[in-house]
Amino acid sequence: MPTDSAMPLNNPIARILVAALLIMAAIGCQPRQQESTSDPSEPDSATTPLLLISIDGFRHDYFDLADTPALDRLISEGLKTDSLHHVFPTKTFPTHYTMVTGRHPGTHGVVANSMWDPYRDQRFSLGNRDAVGDGYWYQDGEPIWVTAENQGLTAATFFWPGSEARIHRVRPTYWKPYAGDTPHGERIDQVLAWLDLPEEERPDLLTLYFSSVDSMGHRHGPRAEAVRDAVIDVDSHLLNLLNGLEERDLLGNMHIIVVSDHGMSRVDFDQYIMLDDYLDLSKVRVSDWGPAAQIWATEKSVDDIFRALDGAHPNLRVWRREDIPQRYRFGSHHRVPDVLAEADLEWMISNRPFMAGRSRFSLLGMHGWDPALEEMHGILLAHGPAFSAGSRSPAVRSIDLYALMAHLLGLEAADNEGSLSAWEPLLFSEQPNRVKVQKFQCPEGPLSVRIGPAHASVHWRDAIHVLDEVETSPDARQWQEQDLSLRIDQRGAQAMIDGTAIGPCSAMLATH
Ligand code: AMP
Ligand code: ZN
Ligand code: ZN
Repeated sequence: MPTDSAMPLNNPIARILVAALLIMAAIGCQPRQQESTSDPSEPDSATTPLLLISIDGFRHDYFDLADTPALDRLISEGLKTDSLHHVFPTKTFPTHYTMVTGRHPGTHGVVANSMWDPYRDQRFSLGNRDAVGDGYWYQDGEPIWVTAENQGLTAATFFWPGSEARIHRVRPTYWKPYAGDTPHGERIDQVLAWLDLPEEERPDLLTLYFSSVDSMGHRHGPRAEAVRDAVIDVDSHLLNLLNGLEERDLLGNMHIIVVSDHGMSRVDFDQYIMLDDYLDLSKVRVSDWGPAAQIWATEKSVDDIFRALDGAHPNLRVWRREDIPQRYRFGSHHRVPDVLAEADLEWMISNRPFMAGRSRFSLLGMHGWDPALEEMHGILLAHGPAFSAGSRSPAVRSIDLYALMAHLLGLEAADNEGSLSAWEPLLFSEQPNRVKVQKFQCPEGPLSVRIGPAHASVHWRDAIHVLDEVETSPDARQWQEQDLSLRIDQRGAQAMIDGTAIGPCSAMLATH
């Protein structure tokens, strides 16, 4: 295991710094887990442990695929949100890193599973172990385990993107190098063993990760039988986990949050857009392919690339970096490419040499498109003292998860782009929250709104958007998000979605 890079001690300034650090350690400048109570005979008020579980590629509508006793127990005893709205691009590393940092990929810098860094002139890909374990790629966000460790808590990760790297010089106290073939039972046993450690060694924050549902979704398509079998298998291991926690009197006395990192859409072998039909690929760099292509100007100018692709194919949209839709919040990081091209749902971007000889059955499911698209929504369940049994919520945003976890762990959150506001009314409430549904008929089509105490989701065509409540008056309610707004009053509803005005819409029915 690599050690911290040591400062050369023959340098006099370094020697003074080391001496100062030793003195600080001796007088107790280490951060404390929690302020101890004034009575030394009283035990420290211990942190409620938090276990974050990711089931990769579990689409929000997979719950009805099979009986899932473990997930069902969490749902009946805790909070279930309709779905989890992720960030662009809806790919494993960008979305997982957003959940633990509260920053968008365009800010935290993990902009794809495969990316290029122009400062270092280096590539990152999931198969490149050196890159995956190199903190450089993650340093523009602070993951929750770093926040926890820096404030005196202990973190343990059984896989999570970024958890193998030293980020801001910190790793989780316990972590595992990624090995996708690790039996699920071994992962559960290790989490239980970590929780069995003596109090001073026991982790306060733990993560668990399963990839099989995603793998089966890619291979066989969303909702295929193999996906159902993978869901059943993960759930059976989660049931062992819940039973183990119950035996230890931990179930109900710790927080468990179950998420997935994106959904899954079918793809069609006959719906590939070949970039080399429009662009000489030897004159550009393409750092990522699939639902979206990330393209860099090398021997061709940005304008030439843009002109070559703009309007080239009816199922393709293209933007210069500065014109990427605001809602994607993807513009600012130096790893965001010069040109972004995105295909319609179920369409893919590739090139002829790559596709030559590939079977039409080699890939039946994919993700990576606009996070608002219903198919790209993941799941979020939450169980534990902060969540009332049977509580329900409209879709929530993954960007707000870091703020929630920091709050549950009693941590001061690092700088982030999320908010606690949608969560606050759901936490430690006497009554389980219910979702209020309002349906409207607009000149442009039907609009459905699912309303929570501080936020709402708008279901419009094939997308689900999440908006925060901004104003409540006796006769009107209003919600907002970047490029989105919604107002409901006695006469009906009006919305603005991606710059298009919708309405006036008349109410159809209201259910509670
Ligand atoms: P995606 O297709 O974007 O859903 O990526 C899923 C794949 O990411 C999994 O099947 C794993 O192979 C890979 N993966 C997930 N977590 C890690 C990790 N911590 N390190 C390396 N690869 C990972
Ligand atoms: Zn994934
Ligand atoms: Zn995947």
